[in-house]
Amino acid sequence: MLDKWLTATLDDASASSDDPSSHSRPENSDEGRLSGGRYRIHGEGILELTPDVVAADARSVVISAGIHGNETAPIELVGELLAALEIGRLKLGAPLLIILGNIPSILAQSRFVTTNLNRLFRQDCDQTGDQTGDEPERARELMRAVDDFFARYPDHRLHLDMHTAIRDSRYPRFAVVPFTETVPRVEKPAETRSEIQPSSSWQSLAAAGMQAVLFQHQHSWTFSHYSRHYHAAEAYTLELGKVRPFGDNDLDALNGMRTWLAALAEGRPSAEEKLDDLRFFRVTHELMRTSDTFRLAFADDVANFTEFAVGETLADDQESGPFIVQDAPLSVVFPNANVELNARAALLVRPCPPPDPH
Ligand SMILES: [Zn+2]
Repeated sequence: MLDKWLTATLDDASASSDDPSSHSRPENSDEGRLSGGRYRIHGEGILELTPDVVAADARSVVISAGIHGNETAPIELVGELLAALEIGRLKLGAPLLIILGNIPSILAQSRFVTTNLNRLFRQDCDQTGDQTGDEPERARELMRAVDDFFARYPDHRLHLDMHTAIRDSRYPRFAVVPFTETVPRVEKPAETRSEIQPSSSWQSLAAAGMQAVLFQHQHSWTFSHYSRHYHAAEAYTLELGKVRPFGDNDLDALNGMRTWLAALAEGRPSAEEKLDDLRFFRVTHELMRTSDTFRLAFADDVANFTEFAVGETLADDQESGPFIVQDAPLSVVFPNANVELNARAALLVRPCPPPDPH
């Protein structure tokens, strides 16, 4: 039943539409019971779990995976979590919205079908309203699902959008904190608002095995940004190692993450660990591909968080000229020279101190 939802979702999506048996399978029934609550399937790859009793420490949690279809480790983590709830090893104590993002691209084992889904989460008709195709339509469906869920469960909102990275990384597991100016309910000077978080979060991220936290410096219309910007949720894009096919992932390296998801599902407080080994970075520049002559000046396979010294050239462009590191070293994250014109080709980041506890 529930533990088969994930494979059934993927099987059904790949079954030919004229196969009537694909629409009447028992494991695809829309709702049912599980340990501590019930589940309801809202749509393809959209599953809500509702506890009979909401635990005292419960958060309202959106857990998403497969926004990029070839990033399989997070999908395997979701499968494990659902299996543990199904057999009663975990007892549901918190409302959860579980999302498999881009099902056609998961089936194709590709990052996306026509365009990158993780830049389309914007409540703005000019951006996605007039776009057709798999990804814009899916973005609208997922935004509605998140809107409905957080409207019904407005307390202690949390969204974990789990990914794996295309390249190696000095810090294989890291969290990206989306930017927003609006964090209600906490009064702080405007310039620090974008980094206000519940004080336990950094320790929870450390316990979940994160090695670095990266603060975005401007809006970026990702799924986690959507929850943070429009719903004031605590939200992260979590990079959990490197892209590998199903079955090739080292889930033991994600033990901390597995433990965190289990605690959230049961509505227990998250484990915490000291921040000694957690590094903090802030985006200081974005390299944009502004012309066809744009190129990155370093090797294609450079690892995320590789540091470049003052005076080194990072990019070249016949129109806007070279980009040279100035003032202090810069580290490169998510470099990709082959993005569309006027899209981001790399984030440039610098270390920053841990945000103040409060
Ligand atoms: Zn991704």
